[in-house]
Amino acid sequence: MLDSLLKLLFPPKCLGCGALGPKTLCEACRGELLPYRGPACGRCGVPMLISAPLCPECKRESPPFRRAFSRSLYEGKMEGLVRRLKFQDAPQLAEPLAQLMAEEWRENGLQSQPFNLVTAVPLSKASLSRRGYNQAALLARKLAGKLSLPYRETLRKVRRTAAQARLGREQRLTNQRGAFSVVEPLTGERVLLIDDVMTTGATARECAITLLMGGAGEVWVYTLARGMGSQRGRISS
Ligand SMILES: [Zn+2]
Ligand SMILES: [Zn+2]
Repeated sequence: MLDSLLKLLFPPKCLGCGALGPKTLCEACRGELLPYRGPACGRCGVPMLISAPLCPECKRESPPFRRAFSRSLYEGKMEGLVRRLKFQDAPQLAEPLAQLMAEEWRENGLQSQPFNLVTAVPLSKASLSRRGYNQAALLARKLAGKLSLPYRETLRKVRRTAAQARLGREQRLTNQRGAFSVVEPLTGERVLLIDDVMTTGATARECAITLLMGGAGEVWVYTLARGMGSQRGRISS
């Protein structure tokens, strides 16, 4: 009875467009969240204007992770939803967004890749208590379930860092150095590391280094969205 009263007072709405309906994300909104299928670096996944196996950055220095991908570009409706998931107490968005990640993973034939576990980029204790949940861990748990892989917490944040968004690329890299440690030693696992957004990749790099130093055999990175930062429009040479 209370449930029906609440539904009457606060009818369920799509968090993408506000349309009344039972789904957290309606079909129309899902249709707007297009996957990125354009040219991208085969290693770090940065979108490029023309196809080339590696971006200039990866040619110069191999990233610690084996590969990184993102489901969509961090723009438009996707950007709005990620912000909601992160900053506006909408953990229920993790389910439909992880579903999009799972579908794209299968679409790319990646389910045949033998991963031992799925894990997430951790938040600092302060951010975690402020937000009440780690959006990357929510996505990782849901995705792991959908891909029938085990989820495990492997990393913790041991040093506070300045908010990445306010920093330039070089600063971002130094900002993250030594920021993480492994919860317990790993033993050669192939790890799929999940985050909500990847921009310069500084966080993903540092997490991958920490996992490898902690004993992981190989790290792949998969994020919901890819921010272009200062790299927008960059052409591979
Ligand atoms: Zn909608
Ligand atoms: Zn690259």
